[in-house]
Amino acid sequence: MLKNTRSLFPWLCLTAGLLLAACQGAAPTPAASGRLTVVATFSILGDLVQRVAGDQVELLVLVGADGDAHSYEPAPTDTRALAEAGLIFENGLGFESWLDDLYAASGSTARRVVASEGLALVAADAPGEFDPHIWQSVPNARQMVKTIQAALADADPAHAGVYQANAEAYLKQLDELHAYILAQTASLPAERRKLVTNHDTFAYFAQAYGFTIVGDALGGSTTEGGEPSAAQMAQLADAIRAAGVPAIFAENVEGSQTVQRLAQETGVKLGPPLYTDALGRPGTPGETYLGLMRYNAEAIVGALR
Ligand SMILES: [Zn+2]
Repeated sequence: MLKNTRSLFPWLCLTAGLLLAACQGAAPTPAASGRLTVVATFSILGDLVQRVAGDQVELLVLVGADGDAHSYEPAPTDTRALAEAGLIFENGLGFESWLDDLYAASGSTARRVVASEGLALVAADAPGEFDPHIWQSVPNARQMVKTIQAALADADPAHAGVYQANAEAYLKQLDELHAYILAQTASLPAERRKLVTNHDTFAYFAQAYGFTIVGDALGGSTTEGGEPSAAQMAQLADAIRAAGVPAIFAENVEGSQTVQRLAQETGVKLGPPLYTDALGRPGTPGETYLGLMRYNAEAIVGALR
């Protein structure tokens, strides 16, 4: 039935002037496959959406593996992706500073689902702003999955049961992950649970797993702040020595030269790069959210022990 209607459609458009407007104004979704077309702004959120959606949606992720969403410059294809999307998932909290302009330019009318909505937030450096790195706590990811499930079911009620089953199965895996990270981090003496990272990404991790943030090389919760001054570096180096931190950490989305320089200056060990704001590339331990969180916890505990 559907196939016949489709093949007749261009002919109707050409021959019936009255129908022309209707053809041009056709809704952008569902896609040619009949599936809902969904955009997620960055790789970690994309993975959570994919786990809930399974193969019921066509998912496009804008900022991919190892990509830095803070400094991302949208491509022309992104405008088109938003224009064709039936649903858009974003982190919110200023993480995708480029999204409002992109959305306006695309002419999209798709619903924007803010994954951070409903979470208890950590304040950022600037007054009235909040730390956007919510996914570094597994209980937050749990809540994000529920938000994603509700939005997908709302946009595509015919497959609500599939989204519910997928979400429930994934929530079980998240619960196991959370228990694993709690056990890992609890094995580290409390006085060693101190983090120094390249940019300030681990506030939610610290809160969930009992760590203290000593400082970060780039001096903020974005990678866009630029290099710290010599005085700021000296101050941070002092704080690192005073705290007796055994290792500090680079990250996968940014060159981390500043944190490397800090390690040299303080003589403190440079820990392995952590997955901060993006999944790792396929074949790396951080290619999924589950793998990313597991890897970070093991790397942190291993380096600080
Ligand atoms: Zn960040």
